[in-house]
Amino acid sequence: MADTASPTSTGTGSGCHGGRETMLEAARAAGKSETLDRLLADYPRGPHDQPQSMCPAFGSLRVGLRMRRTATILSGSACCVYGLTFTAHFYGARRTVGYVPFNSESLVRGQLFEDIREAVFKIAKPEDYDAVVVINLCVPTASGVPLDLLPKQIEGVRIIGIDVPGFGVPTHAEAKDVLAGAMLKYARLEAEEGPVQRPRNHKADQPTVALIGELFPVDPIGIGAMLQPMGLALAPSLPSREWRDLYGALDCRVAAAIHPFYTATIREFIAAGRPVVGSGPIGIDGTAAWLDAIGKAANVATAKVEDAKNKTLSALRGVMAASPIKARITLSGYEGSELLVARLLVEAGAEVPYVGTACPRTEWSDPDREWLETRGVHVQYRASLEQDVAAMMEVKPDLAVGTTPLVQKAKELGIPALYFTNMVSARPLFGPAGAGALAAIVAGQTKGRERFARMVGFFENVGTGEGTGYGFKDVPKDPPGAKERYRKARLTRAKVDAPTAEV
Ligand code: SF4
Repeated sequence: MADTASPTSTGTGSGCHGGRETMLEAARAAGKSETLDRLLADYPRGPHDQPQSMCPAFGSLRVGLRMRRTATILSGSACCVYGLTFTAHFYGARRTVGYVPFNSESLVRGQLFEDIREAVFKIAKPEDYDAVVVINLCVPTASGVPLDLLPKQIEGVRIIGIDVPGFGVPTHAEAKDVLAGAMLKYARLEAEEGPVQRPRNHKADQPTVALIGELFPVDPIGIGAMLQPMGLALAPSLPSREWRDLYGALDCRVAAAIHPFYTATIREFIAAGRPVVGSGPIGIDGTAAWLDAIGKAANVATAKVEDAKNKTLSALRGVMAASPIKARITLSGYEGSELLVARLLVEAGAEVPYVGTACPRTEWSDPDREWLETRGVHVQYRASLEQDVAAMMEVKPDLAVGTTPLVQKAKELGIPALYFTNMVSARPLFGPAGAGALAAIVAGQTKGRERFARMVGFFENVGTGEGTGYGFKDVPKDPPGAKERYRKARLTRAKVDAPTAEV
């Protein structure tokens, strides 16, 4: 999207959809090698090496905006910041997003860093904030704007500077981890140095489990009820809603990587000496296995674990038996919970030949992958949109669950489709509440197959793709050779504009 006047980024369509290697090279030349190596190790690339969804930095922005007493400042091209703030407010942020603008001169001369520093000093007032987060987007990262040189704290307000470039962080899901992990590291080091603030609703008398991942609000309540017979309570979840919650999360007995892509966050739990359990309490098999794993990691007596399983599983069995799913479904998304949803669908009786996730494979989703693969499900990590669409076209499902472009494609074909983020992630997933909710939305959508077919018929002959809306008359034709001439002109210009300046 972005293409600013930075000398390190001009000419090659730099930004999310072009010039990745140029940006990487520029960032390395500008001293960001260590940061990039860390990002590449934590968030390995897959078959597609560019974000295919929204700007990844949205994940970090969202985590910051959802925290109390936390200010968030973006440093990046105005067009990127416009898109990010638009998306943030679309999702109901209701919080101010700080922005430090720049131009090619202030970037090249290092003035941008000075401007960010000044902004941070202006905003870091302890009466207003616990923390100030500064996020370098693509161009400032590629230009080496050194956020690590910002003061670590100003009058007790923590300053967290992170680089979240689209050419280093493949999905917005993983960008959540960049900020959550950076904050947890800061909090861990604080806790190692001495006493820290107690979280609200602190439960001093019970060992706790910290859930990792943004869950639908009802889910932690349901999971807390599952853990209760084992004498365990919930620690504050991560990403947290308040700085002091980070200490409470670190103080857990066990960390549960419900969303398996939080590599940096998990690293901090491990550094704090906490065992980490993967997968989640999903469906009957998954819930039993997860409660066993949590009980073992937390050293809970077997009888208590069995008690917890009996209580949860009997209710779950009842709901699942009453809400079977009879449909062939393909599933894809970029939330990181795709494998869990697929498990629930399969247990409820659905045929799921394909599940694709834009997130990478980690050991924390291995139990889900193995369970699915044993049942003939093809699991595709770092799935590209093209792979998701190809799977849907091959399978011709009764319902395709996926991202916006996949849902569009499905509707064009008359296949009932559901948008994963708005429909599946916005409902409970775990325990009896999750089983009931998923069955209800699948049933509602698959019944609509007839309606989708009518829609395709209704819109027939109105044109598709570039010819949309021209179906009743001639589709305008490109001037002969124009596209090829334009392509060559762009290539020539890219060579002329190749990066020359040092930043
Ligand atoms: S910051 Fe986001 S929107 Fe801007 S160029 Fe990078 S990936 Fe694209």
